[in-house]
Amino acid sequence: MSTTQLDHVLGLKCLICGAEYQPDEVLYVCPHHGNEGVLDVVYDYRRIGQRLSPQALAQDSTLSIWRYLPLLPVEPEVVARVRPVGARLPHHPLFSVGWTPLYESPTLAQELGLAAVYVKNDGLNPSASFKDRASAIAVIKALELGRRVIAAASTGNAASSLAALSASLGLKNIIFVPAAAPQAKIAQLLIFGATVLAVRGSYDQAFDLCLEASQTYGWYNRNTAYNPYMSEGKKTAAYEIVEQLGWEVPDRVFVGVGDGCIIGGLYKGFSDLLALGWIDRMPRLMGVQAAGSAAMVQAWQAGMDPMAMEPIEAHTIADSISAGLPRDRIKAMRAVVESDGAYIAVTDEEILAAMPVLARKAGVFAEPAGAAPYAGLVKAVREGLVGPQERVVVLATGNGLKDVSSAMKAAGTSHIIEPSLEAVRRVIPS
Ligand SMILES: *Cc1c(COP(=O)(O)O)cnc(C)c1O
Ligand SMILES: [Zn+2]
Repeated sequence: MSTTQLDHVLGLKCLICGAEYQPDEVLYVCPHHGNEGVLDVVYDYRRIGQRLSPQALAQDSTLSIWRYLPLLPVEPEVVARVRPVGARLPHHPLFSVGWTPLYESPTLAQELGLAAVYVKNDGLNPSASFKDRASAIAVIKALELGRRVIAAASTGNAASSLAALSASLGLKNIIFVPAAAPQAKIAQLLIFGATVLAVRGSYDQAFDLCLEASQTYGWYNRNTAYNPYMSEGKKTAAYEIVEQLGWEVPDRVFVGVGDGCIIGGLYKGFSDLLALGWIDRMPRLMGVQAAGSAAMVQAWQAGMDPMAMEPIEAHTIADSISAGLPRDRIKAMRAVVESDGAYIAVTDEEILAAMPVLARKAGVFAEPAGAAPYAGLVKAVREGLVGPQERVVVLATGNGLKDVSSAMKAAGTSHIIEPSLEAVRRVIPS
């Protein structure tokens, strides 16, 4: 790998000790802190500002995360290798990642008494979740390094996303998931040809096992908060929100939090835009957790140092945000504290209640973790945390089809009838 092509990346900075490394010096974490030493990518914003501007973006017809290529830590030549210059059609789902729709819902705004409610439907990504934003970067990094096998531990979506984006490039995947992951997510893994190791244990155990095996076998590793580039893919949602709102900053963004990589990535994205001078303030980031997996909520309420957090036993229907010890807790805590946001816990019942509301009032069918942010918004409004003049974004991170059995718990039941008009009339009298 030649560093000159990554000339907009100044280094990788350890969140614990502040040590800075060149991108070709370390692959994953700060060598002084083992697996805890999460790194943050540091950019040369002056150089990026010379290559990209809101005006240039307005002229760009690339409707995916790649419209922000000068802000991503990848070699443009490697991206171009997958998408040959001049090709009329994309050659790969990598080029459909991101630029998901942001819907305005006047109905929800009116119901909640807010100035505006926007729902970003990231369930429309190629593998039907937000995780594609990060997996896209993982795939390009593996190609940069000439690696053919990528391993990941996942509650389901990170892995199914990696499998969807790797398969047709000839990259192999070894996946570690908790054996209890929803069937649809396992089906995605298998159909794309990943080797699936369903671990009899928690996500946290699958995570540690995946790291150990990756080191033993020499696989490239996509694990959240271990691979420093995953936040960098996730940050693209922040760029899109602001650009889709005409470079206006919303007052708050509500997002589900498991490991905390998405919320940390959003913070990074908004920080990039501030550093470039393209926006003049940060939205408040509102981290929403399931009550049965609320490690960040508890630590935030107690004003605790995220490195002092202890693992809890996580139980929630929202499998994608079930994490006993959030792996990206340093970035996740910083995001909420520095943006003057908050952490909120919602019960599984509140999450289930949010699913049909989001579907019926905003037209978005989200899996439980994707509906949790809306449940968090409802609670925040009820508790007077959000004022009536505010404009808020809800990030629906995963498609409802990912977990049909949870959806059925929330959706109500069908009428089973005989094949006669009489039977229809019994259900619908006139
Ligand atoms: C992974 C995931 C989340 C949570 O992201 P973290 O980075 O783990 O906090 C939320 N929703 C969905 C659908 C996800 O797949
Ligand atoms: Zn360090």
